[in-house]
Amino acid sequence: MIIGITGGIGSGKSTIAKQLREMGYAVYDTDSEAKRLIMEDAGLRQQIEQLFGKEVYQDGVYQTALVAQRVFADKSLLAQLNAIVHPAVRADILRWAQKINHATPRYTMLHNTTPCFVECAILYQAGFDTLCDKVVVVTAPEEVRLQRAVVRDHSTIEKVRARMRAQEVEKDIERADLIVNNDGKTEITAICLQIRIFFCNFAG
Ligand code: ADP
Repeated sequence: MIIGITGGIGSGKSTIAKQLREMGYAVYDTDSEAKRLIMEDAGLRQQIEQLFGKEVYQDGVYQTALVAQRVFADKSLLAQLNAIVHPAVRADILRWAQKINHATPRYTMLHNTTPCFVECAILYQAGFDTLCDKVVVVTAPEEVRLQRAVVRDHSTIEKVRARMRAQEVEKDIERADLIVNNDGKTEITAICLQIRIFFCNFAG
């Protein structure tokens, strides 16, 4: 069973993912795994080089700033980059989930009750929701999210607002199987228990 975790910037996805890991669940961190694949997957590297030129891996290091600059100037490049990276991540999620299933005791496998989680800010936009049995959307008031992200990223209100505008939080909420409110008034452990009760209920 794969449970997706998504939500807007600063909603607390990573914080909830961390707690779920501490509770013993396997959690796929899409952001860091995508970065790993971009460095380690030879086929992916080749395609990225074809798109941006050899300088994109200058001295063997992926040039994030250069890519950001190029995709900002040409939006079609972002779509092309996503069309290369997303299928590679998708395949990696499947491989990862399969490995977990094999490592899971037979009785839970048969009842399909042991969940693993995929944390991804763009879960729906990348189509990774189709890999998930259920999707949890983490929410918090916009002002709370803004302040959290400014502090966490040492950023400015304007920059965070720009990133927020690029997200489709309302759409995500409409499509959620479970919405959890992380406005700071409820303990993270209590939110994770809410998630656990949710998947235990539908798993029977
Ligand atoms: P996301 O992954 O959704 O962008 P994070 O989990 O990184 O968000 O949370 C953003 C910041 O807010 C982090 O610094 C985190 O420690 C803090 N944070 C998240 N949830 C809470 C909470 N319930 N109370 C206080 N701070 C929180």
